This record gives sequence, structure tokens and C-alpha cells, in this order.
Amino acid sequence: MSAVIKDSAQHSDQPLVSLRNLNKYYGEFAAVDDISLDIKDGEFLTFLGSSGSGKSTTLSMLAGFETPSSGEILVNGQSLVNVPPHKRDIGMVFQRYSLFPHLSVRDNIAFPLSIRKLAPAERERRVDAMLKLVQLEQFAHRRPSQLSGGQQQRVAIARALVYEPRILLMDEPLGALDKKLREDLQDELRQLHRRLGITIIYVTHDQEEAMRLSQRIAIFSHGKIVGLGSGYDLYQNPPNAFVASFLGNSNFLKLKAQGNAVASFEGQSLSIRLTAGLQTDQDVLLMVRPEKALALSVEQASQEPLAAGWNEVSAKVVEVLFLGESQTCSVVTSGGTSMTVKALSAAGMPLKAGDPVRVRWATADACVYTEWAESDLNKAAGAH
Ligand code: ADP
Ligand code: MG
Repeated sequence: MSAVIKDSAQHSDQPLVSLRNLNKYYGEFAAVDDISLDIKDGEFLTFLGSSGSGKSTTLSMLAGFETPSSGEILVNGQSLVNVPPHKRDIGMVFQRYSLFPHLSVRDNIAFPLSIRKLAPAERERRVDAMLKLVQLEQFAHRRPSQLSGGQQQRVAIARALVYEPRILLMDEPLGALDKKLREDLQDELRQLHRRLGITIIYVTHDQEEAMRLSQRIAIFSHGKIVGLGSGYDLYQNPPNAFVASFLGNSNFLKLKAQGNAVASFEGQSLSIRLTAGLQTDQDVLLMVRPEKALALSVEQASQEPLAAGWNEVSAKVVEVLFLGESQTCSVVTSGGTSMTVKALSAAGMPLKAGDPVRVRWATADACVYTEWAESDLNKAAGAH
């Protein structure tokens, strides 16, 4: 008895899935390039990246449809590499529903149990439970062609869950559906995950979907994981310039360090987050989210002295966009750097093109990077 308790206590710290130095080569080309990742039991983790970044290849190796060129896949500390797909205790849902057209909804869902030779009574019990779970009880006798896209995808999810796998892999499962339906199914999936306590590894190229669904996101680029964390952390504190430009919108300013917390920008001195090891005149990149940078008219700025811990640069308005909740403003600094900022709507005159402005942001809200590639700053960079 005590041995069992000790054993499970040990397991609670251990990740459910570990990818260790995983590689997949097609000829010389590394589709998956030395990926290491631990996934917790019960976690909802999403692989997010542009097309061709290696998400599906990684998922296929987990499912067992592709063999790694090197590296390990462990589940509960046991290697999966030589375990065939149907013995992995892993369910899989693809973008294409891949339902059997000649079978009813009920028989589609029952299929994995039939091939696993479950007793008929147990099979019926589980299929009924699944039909209820995905709310398709009234449709049990229909063929897939008599269902909407969203309903078909719910059948595919039920079929993947019916044999109670511990891990569910989903590769762009909602990609073929329109926006409204996709959002409804995202909500359903989140609830399903909460109720079942299952581990879900989800693939998408849609950052909003990744944010809505996941507890953690792994950002893929060129076969590597270049960012890992909650959507909140990745957005607020991107680990590098690529993640900053990939997730949401960002302003990049090129500065020269003048100490560990000061840098010059277009001849002006700005305060930056304390960054260890900066050399004088070293190039540093500053990243400020548009919603963290405010444009004030010169008059407003003169009435509101700059608060401690804030920075200010001079700029000129290029364009003002009214977006309902907020006004977005494109500006260009006196040194020619373009920025997108929030127009602070004063009681008086709204900003307009050509107006001189002061752009302000809090030092704490700006990330500092010491290494980056020019291509990182370009949003479309990851795409092939
Ligand atoms: P994602 O799912 O992120 O869009 P994939 O994992 O499908 O990307 O593909 C990663 C890269 O590997 C792509 O450049 C793709 O062209 C390449 N690739 C995938 N499968 C094969 C294959 N069977 N043969 C050659 N190249 C492949
Ligand atoms: Mg893919």
C-alpha cells in the first residue's frame, strides 16, 4: 500500500509527455530541429506557428505516424518510439473530419471500440456517453453527410475520446469551420478539457485560437520551439523579438546602450529595463506594445509632466484610426522611426495627421533584446 502511494507521489512531479532532442529530417532538411518539451498531465498545450514550422510533424511523431530521425518521446518515463500508434493510448483529431461516410454517427463513434473488441454492452454504454458529451444524441442515426461541419467535427472528437485515451492530439481541428462555429467549438473544447481532465496537445496557426484554448503555448519557427509559456506571459514579456512580432502588434526601436538601464535613441537618452552585461554603444532593441505607448498633443504633454519611470520622444502623426473602443495613431519620430501608438483622447481636440505629438511609455512596459535578426521584426517572417 505505502509503495503505491509513494509511486503516485513520484509521478505527480514527472511530466506526462517528454520530447527529448527530437529531430525529423527529410533528406538534409530539418522539419523538426532538436525539440525538447515537457507536457504536464492534464494540460492543454498548443503548438502555434506559421505554415511549415514543424507543428504537424511533431504531433505525428507523438501519434506514431512518423518516426523520429533521432531523439526520444517518453510518456510516463517510458519510450514510445517503438510502440505502434494504436497501442499509444493517444486519440487524434485532424482538420479533415475523416469520418466513415457509409457509417452512422453511432457506428463512427463505436468504430475504435469495435476494433479493440470491447463487449457490446460496454461499447453501447460508452458510445451513449460520448453522444451525450458532444450533444449529438438526436443525430445518432444520421450519416456524416447529413450533418453540418461543426457537427461532423464533434463526431470526430467523440470518436477520438471514446476509448478514453489519456492524451488527445488535435491538428487544426477547427480550421475548416467558419469563425462563429469555430468560437463555439473552442468554448466546448475548453469545457470538455476541464470536465475530462485529459491532456490535450493542439495545433493551430491562429494565435487568437491558441490564446482562447490553451494553458500554455509553444511557438514554433523553422522546426524549433522559440517561445513557451502562457499566452499572457508570451504576450506581455516575449522571450525574443520573433515572438514579440509574431504575437500581436509591436513597435521596435533601435537604441545604443549607455549603461545597464539607459540607452540613447535618436540623440536622446531613454531609460530601459535593467539589463545585465550591456556594453556602452551596444545595439539594443526596445519593444513596446501599441497599447502601452500613448500619443499626447504637445499642449497636453506640457500640462502633464512626465511621471517618474516614463519615457518620452517627439513624433509627428501620420494617420489616426478610430477603432470604436480606442483610437490608434501611426506616428513617425523625428529620427524617422515608425510607431503605432494609442491616441490619448483628450477632452479637447482629437489628433490629426501632421500634428506634432509626444509619445510616452513606461520603462517597465518595454522589453529589451540584445540579440535579434532583422527578419524577426517582420511579422510574415516565419511563413514559407
Ligand atoms: P506545419 O504543420 O507547421 O505547417 P509540417 O510539420 O507539416 O508544418 O511541415 C514542416 C516542414 O516539413 C515543411 O517545410 C514541410 O514541407 C516539410 N515536410 C513535411 N512532411 C514532409 C515529407 N513527407 N517530405 C518532405 N518534407 C516534408
Ligand atoms: Mg500542419
